Amino acid sequence: MNERKPLAELKAVDWDMIVVGGGITGAGVVREAVRRGCKVLLVEQADFAWGTSSRSSKMVHGGLRYIAAGDIRLTWHSLVERERLLREAPGLVTRLGYWFAHYEKTFPGPWVFGFLLSVYDLLARVRDHRYVARDKFLEQMPGYREQGLRGGSRYTDALVDDARLVLRVLDESMDEGACVRNYTRVEAPLLHAGEVIGARLRDLESGEAVDVSCRTLINATGAWADRLRSSIAASKRVRPLRGSHLVVASERLPVREATIFMHPDDGRAVFIYPWQGRTVIGTTDLDHHDDLDEEAHISRQEFDYLLRAANRQFPGAALVDGDVIATFSGVRPIVSSGRGLHPSQEKRDHSVFSEHGMITVTGGKLTTFRQIALDVLRAAAPRLGIVVRDRGEAVFAPAPQDRLGARFGRTAQRIHELPAPQEQALLPGLDYSLAEMRWSLRHEQVVHLDDLLLRRTRIGLLCRQGGEEFLPLIAPLCRDELGWSEERWQAEVKRYQQIWQRFYSLPA
Ligand SMILES: Cc1cc2nc3c(=O)[nH]c(=O)nc-3n(C[C@H](O)[C@H](O)[C@H](O)COP(=O)(O)OP(=O)(O)OC[C@H]3O[C@@H](n4cnc5c(N)ncnc54)[C@H](O)[C@@H]3O)c2cc1C
Repeated sequence: MNERKPLAELKAVDWDMIVVGGGITGAGVVREAVRRGCKVLLVEQADFAWGTSSRSSKMVHGGLRYIAAGDIRLTWHSLVERERLLREAPGLVTRLGYWFAHYEKTFPGPWVFGFLLSVYDLLARVRDHRYVARDKFLEQMPGYREQGLRGGSRYTDALVDDARLVLRVLDESMDEGACVRNYTRVEAPLLHAGEVIGARLRDLESGEAVDVSCRTLINATGAWADRLRSSIAASKRVRPLRGSHLVVASERLPVREATIFMHPDDGRAVFIYPWQGRTVIGTTDLDHHDDLDEEAHISRQEFDYLLRAANRQFPGAALVDGDVIATFSGVRPIVSSGRGLHPSQEKRDHSVFSEHGMITVTGGKLTTFRQIALDVLRAAAPRLGIVVRDRGEAVFAPAPQDRLGARFGRTAQRIHELPAPQEQALLPGLDYSLAEMRWSLRHEQVVHLDDLLLRRTRIGLLCRQGGEEFLPLIAPLCRDELGWSEERWQAEVKRYQQIWQRFYSLPA
């Protein structure tokens, strides 16, 4: 990934497209636009993937519940993309077994569920499900609630590191000539005769601002989409819905594969799954009324709701607050039906709409980012003078098939070759090395310590107190690579600790 270009340099270019928002949607659009020969700039007001795209449930999935709701098209598209990502980004996207337990006198029973899974597999063109009787199920899911248990169905979906997915897509785009810049906000679109002709950008670090012109402006700001639209359209489209997760020490709730079950309070689906050596419990689904300028965070009610679900399903675990290492919450940018539906009934599909030269894209899923990007380009095509066909080109170039290849793609080999062999070792209890952090600091536009600990690596989600025990090892890297003084380092540590305490720790 390139360095942050000076703001003045951005002004000197007549961009075909400016993409606002550095989540997976914006990254996907840049990727598809640049390979069609467009001059593309992406700006992100905070860090890349700072929004929902680092706080998803991290599943690359078809979404069984969409089939059950009759949304075959969304499921089919998602499954096609799931299989593509598994092929193109092995290690970053990994297949995982999911278990659903069947109890006496509860719906759906094994036959109905098996039928659903046959359709699911058919759409994905795989055959990957089975039913096992009670004892075999308990061998796979020790400690599961036994009363009335008949057996379990297993199918497969996939998991990903969502923030690294965004970074890899951006990296591939930059390799083909895109320019991307974090901590740069679009303050407002620039208008001429009521049509968008550019954007006013502000560097949130230096305070500097420039006006930059473009042929089309893509509003990929997710939950923030209505804000950017407000200067050209009065209506509101987005209904922000929050979903939260708990990260638990895997010794306290060991699961080899994922399980999905219905919450006893409201019948919503809850997942418990292994991720990066920890166990994640999620998620919730409720209207998010908090200020969007603040990171979303879990409420006490959501925390208790998720803990209650896990304890009912794994009664022996008897989880308590102290077992939770960290929490994280994201805001779904759902396009509202306007009919006051229950949050879980709102459609999860994406919408693209074009207004006065600005194309807004919102809703959708991490999994379908490539399909979403193609829909955005189709809407932008008349202004750009391009024809958009899905030629099925790979999003990712081939990469080494190892841990670093999964995270960094093509450049992984260069991390192995960094001097200081002692930095190649994994940190205790983690799947990260100091060498890869050095690489991120040097090449991945790390501006703040939280960029490194929450998104380039996920240490802040995986360790108690945000991994503060590793800070003495990381300090020299930041001094070497970013030239931070002792004073700057102390300020960054303070900032990180405040962010972690407020948005990633346990609720008060
Ligand atoms: C709890 C939860 C669980 C989910 N789980 C899954 C899952 O398992 N699988 C799946 O496929 N999908 C999942 N999703 C959906 C998926 O995460 C989202 O659809 C996706 O991340 C949205 O990406 P985005 O790029 O549109 O938005 P975001 O990632 O939020 O990116 C928008 C970005 O725009 C930036 N921005 C806003 N205003 C400006 C401005 N004026 N100038 C510059 N930048 C700006 C923001 O800072 C933000 O980073 C989940 C969502 C949630 C909330």
